[in-house]
Amino acid sequence: MHEYPVTEQIIKIASEKAKENNAIKVCHIALVVGEHSGFIGESIQMYFDIISRGTICEGAILEIENIKAKWKCPLCDITYMRQPYSFACPKCGQDGLPTNIGKEFYIKSIEVEVP
Ligand SMILES: [Zn+2]
Repeated sequence: MHEYPVTEQIIKIASEKAKENNAIKVCHIALVVGEHSGFIGESIQMYFDIISRGTICEGAILEIENIKAKWKCPLCDITYMRQPYSFACPKCGQDGLPTNIGKEFYIKSIEVEVP
């Protein structure tokens, strides 16, 4: 449910960007969503279709790039994607630590149509 306000925010940012550029519509929004960002891309997509109705963002393509989280092994100093039900390093078996990879949440680009 907490995707609702964040989706409103995305639409607000894109709409402001469109106004700044005297655009007639927003065509494309690229969003980066990490696995550990706390947000679910599919939910944002769903809310986007609902909230954007009647706004300058209506009909825009929302492209969501999902980033898989990565762990880091404290012994080998390597980063890796974990296997299901395991945090173990693929090289030595030690449990890894979470990294910042996978916590991303940002708008990568906004494309608008200018008459
Ligand atoms: Zn290791």
